[in-house]
Amino acid sequence: MSDLPSSISLREVGPRDGLQNEAPVPTEAKVELVNALSATGVRRIEAVSFVHPKAIPQMADATEVWAGIDRRDGVRYSALVPNLRGAQRALEAGFNEIEVVVSASETHNRKNVNRSTAESLDEISELIDVVHDAGSTVQVIVATAWGCPYEGDVPVERTVSVAHRAVRDGADGIGFGDTTGMATPGRVSRLVGEFRSAAPEMAVNLHFHNTRGTGLANVMAALQLGVDDFDASVGGLGGCPYAPGASGNVVTEDLVHMVEDMGVATGVDLEAMIEAAATAERIVGRSLPSQVLRAGPRTRTTPA
Ligand code: ZN
Repeated sequence: MSDLPSSISLREVGPRDGLQNEAPVPTEAKVELVNALSATGVRRIEAVSFVHPKAIPQMADATEVWAGIDRRDGVRYSALVPNLRGAQRALEAGFNEIEVVVSASETHNRKNVNRSTAESLDEISELIDVVHDAGSTVQVIVATAWGCPYEGDVPVERTVSVAHRAVRDGADGIGFGDTTGMATPGRVSRLVGEFRSAAPEMAVNLHFHNTRGTGLANVMAALQLGVDDFDASVGGLGGCPYAPGASGNVVTEDLVHMVEDMGVATGVDLEAMIEAAATAERIVGRSLPSQVLRAGPRTRTTPA
């Protein structure tokens, strides 16, 4: 195996990205899920998003969820926001790690936040200053980084130029989101390479969806480039808002199971994450696409 990072930083996004794309669940169930995840050893959890409740009713109770969870030492909780207003709400609620999202694809950005990508980037520039003044950090996530449900392929140059603008404006980190599961390993290598050519020191997070079965292959390609920061969703919670019935995010326990066996530490207790996945299934009332939840870890044996 070529040189892989000795450890990665995993951000669990099931409570946010996952539940945002499921039928609404009660506040107590969200709190229960975040608490179960906090006990798995995972060090980062994207807990909620502060979006307009009319746009995404699933997240209308963000403040209540955040107030309800047992915050654990050693776990960093973050909130996703679409704009400055959302960032202000997140700061008021006491978050000190914020993710703001902008789409590389013009059409997707308009549908999402009703403005052009350039307008979003201008506001993000201001948002970064506001968040920094509050002593907090901002990761700018470039959504539809590899493809758009309306426009198809998004050129690498387009995605990279959006990301580089955010770097110039002071982002603390950049995330690339494969919103619709259109990335494949070669495309991952190309994008990461192009981005790093002008921003070699910037922290990069990758967020894959397993919509077309390439999620873990994409993670593997990125690991070989030394990327050490990934999003994943317990049980594979969530789905693709543009493809009813399709798989959601890369599954946390499947990812942990694969990379730990290659000597890449995640800090996650696999059995505890499998239990959290069972909790997630109970909460959404449907079976989730996690493969390790079904089959168990490779070392689990059947009584002879
Ligand atoms: Zn996602």
